[in-house]
Amino acid sequence: MDTLLSDHYVEDPKNHAQNLVKEALKTQSATIRNLRNFSGGPGALPESVLLQVQESILSVPEVGLSILGISHRSDWFAHVVEEAENNVRSLLNLSPDYHVLFLQGGATQQFSTIAMSLMGSSPSPAEYLLTGYWSGKSVADAQHIGAVRTVWSGENEHYARLPSDQELSFSPDAPYLHYISNETVEGMQFQRVLGLDSVPRICDMSSDFLSRPCEADRFSMIYAHAQKNLGPAGVTIVVMKKSLVQQCRSDLPRFLDYRTQIKAHSIFNTPPVFAIYVVLLITRWLMNEIGGLSNMNTLNVSKAALLYQTIDESDSFYRGRSSIEDRSLMNIAFNLQTPELEKLFLEESSQAGFSGLNGHRAIGGLRASLYNGVTLRAVEDLVDFMHQFQHQHSN
Ligand code: PMP
Repeated sequence: MDTLLSDHYVEDPKNHAQNLVKEALKTQSATIRNLRNFSGGPGALPESVLLQVQESILSVPEVGLSILGISHRSDWFAHVVEEAENNVRSLLNLSPDYHVLFLQGGATQQFSTIAMSLMGSSPSPAEYLLTGYWSGKSVADAQHIGAVRTVWSGENEHYARLPSDQELSFSPDAPYLHYISNETVEGMQFQRVLGLDSVPRICDMSSDFLSRPCEADRFSMIYAHAQKNLGPAGVTIVVMKKSLVQQCRSDLPRFLDYRTQIKAHSIFNTPPVFAIYVVLLITRWLMNEIGGLSNMNTLNVSKAALLYQTIDESDSFYRGRSSIEDRSLMNIAFNLQTPELEKLFLEESSQAGFSGLNGHRAIGGLRASLYNGVTLRAVEDLVDFMHQFQHQHSN
């Protein structure tokens, strides 16, 4: 044992050994539960990354200090930001026309900052798609700042589907178009890029960023908080085209001005050092262990296919919430015949070691989130459980 902790705590070597075994057992059972975490976010992270995170809490190997006590002004942390940025660039195949930022305030802060920065750049209203719970929040925050035209709304249909191209008509005069690529609550995902090439396209990809290739160069701005596919809560990645930065007004508070953050390489004030470090580890994992976004997508497609197949072949025991063609690969929202049966499903699945399967509090029901860190094995286990549950509870 060469840990520093042992130097502090070992009095009786026999006790120490017993403690280590106890700790290992605890970790093992924690690991099993972690493998069956289907939370909507913060979501499950890959085990190999969690092990590195665990080590870094005590001491980052190349620094010899805990990640929780390393200065954001150190050269090492500047390199962390630089490597994380380069990894995002390479995963997305980004041209040098883009900035990559690591910001605070979550995706919610971006709802307002985008509107404040860009609404004045044209006399026409900004255009928004209203496709679910989170785009509803983005629209409300933008309306608080200025004029919004809702290009399409799924509200009257309870956000059960996404619009077809025929239902969408965009204005060439809008300062920007904003939409959400994956509605986390309802479990719907666009499989195409929307809008006119002549109008800046801004997309909240919080719940599917780096889960698949996304034609990043067709967007003027992409943003995503980390706590689904990229790391823990606390940091939001913003990918922004240089030409869009030029259109942003420059009289906002300095903290909210994208230029400030660009100039400071995301270290204007104390950034979430830990969260950014985990994002770096995740990007390394995506590149080195998974082999890039195309491979990640293949894996995510097979995970979702397995679960949707179980739903579709259940004789309506399980009922998918959204229209089949708009189904999300990330968030699978479904229902059972009655709320009582859903409650029982949650109880029994929890006893079987699964967690995070409750639907969002806004709509209830059930939801399995299959973010990058969720393994195919975990989905196989869930599907087995669902078959057993159906067998026991169908009349
Ligand atoms: N956008 C989407 C698509 C989301 O799923 C969420 C939260 N789950 C948000 C925005 C809000 O993010 P935050 O809590 O980081 O502000």
